Amino acid sequence: MTQSASILQTTNRLVVKIGSALLVADDGTLRSAWLAALAADIARLRARGLDIVIISSGAIAVGRRALGLAAGPRNRALRLEEAQAAAATGQIRLAHAWQETLAQHDIPVAQILLTLDDTENRRRFLNARSTMNTLLGMGVVPVVNENDSVATDEIRYGDNDQLAARVAQMIGADTCILLTDIDGLYSADPNINDNAEHIGEVTLMTPDILAMAGGPRSADGSGGMETKLTAASITMGAGCRMGIADGSELSPLTLLEDGARCTWFLPQSEPRTARKQWIAASAKDAGTLTVDAGAATALGKGKSLLPAGILKVEGQFSRGDMVAVIGQDQTALARGLAAYGDQDARQIIGHKSDEIEALLGYRGREEMIHRDDLVLRDVAPGESFEENEPNNE
Ligand code: GLU
Repeated sequence: MTQSASILQTTNRLVVKIGSALLVADDGTLRSAWLAALAADIARLRARGLDIVIISSGAIAVGRRALGLAAGPRNRALRLEEAQAAAATGQIRLAHAWQETLAQHDIPVAQILLTLDDTENRRRFLNARSTMNTLLGMGVVPVVNENDSVATDEIRYGDNDQLAARVAQMIGADTCILLTDIDGLYSADPNINDNAEHIGEVTLMTPDILAMAGGPRSADGSGGMETKLTAASITMGAGCRMGIADGSELSPLTLLEDGARCTWFLPQSEPRTARKQWIAASAKDAGTLTVDAGAATALGKGKSLLPAGILKVEGQFSRGDMVAVIGQDQTALARGLAAYGDQDARQIIGHKSDEIEALLGYRGREEMIHRDDLVLRDVAPGESFEENEPNNE
């Protein structure tokens, strides 16, 4: 079995990013045969039980043609407002194409447009994540792009490589594949340097590796090797494997499994660990929850924190903020991301989860802190939390 095949064999959640030049021809039309072949690849992987999220570039490349702004991804740069108008026009066509093509395989599609804020702000991050998880749970393939028509320069990723990495981190993906027009990372630009060596595997993001970003510049969209290495740093920090692979030919995911050359960035830790490290490494708690002995025992067994076991809420915090969990004797037990703000929390503590809707007038999460958003404190009493948790992010 090839390395790529064995990586995909052990993948539960896959993010696939598609560069503009793969999806959109030079004249600005969608490459429908290519898209159809990729859809067949995706259907095959879905049938094996993988959750798949697609990050699709190409809105601007498609939209500029529709608006008569010189067609295709390889033409002159657009002014920001032109690019935003093109994105708004192209995104409908792009989403439609994905919907039609995946419908051939009875795969429902959902469109999610994100801005930088949606991943940097914890509350919005949690919201976006929960939508994405709900869709995946329903067997839907989310098709994600940056919300280019509203994102201004200061608040945009600007390239879908980083967006793909952030989404992979958000949903706890174990593999992220960037399909582009080159088969991976080279030690130098292979177009001008005959001695350029292909790098098959990276396990540590060293300055030497980062220096290779000056190499070949992909013609597609706004990315290049540089943004792909930034993406790799993000996925490696999140415990997610990332591949840079050539998507020019039909059925690129099949070709990859069959042994096509690519570069794999292989992290040293599991996604859950990295995520929990992020929680543990966070600088400050916005509030404190005091819990009863039953809840303390449940936490120790890896359970979520339910409102019923909480005795007291202190501090001011919003949904998604970091809070400390302490026992009645003030011992620090855990820390995690609150699913409710302090005001709502004060109303639901001591109550069963099925009473939440009646108390608050809306149906939120059953847990005050879900176990995925919770890190236990496993240090001796008296020691500072921050100093004793691993801080690898
Ligand atoms: N979001 C842009 C688009 O859909 C593409 C950005 C990129 O190429 O990385 O046109």
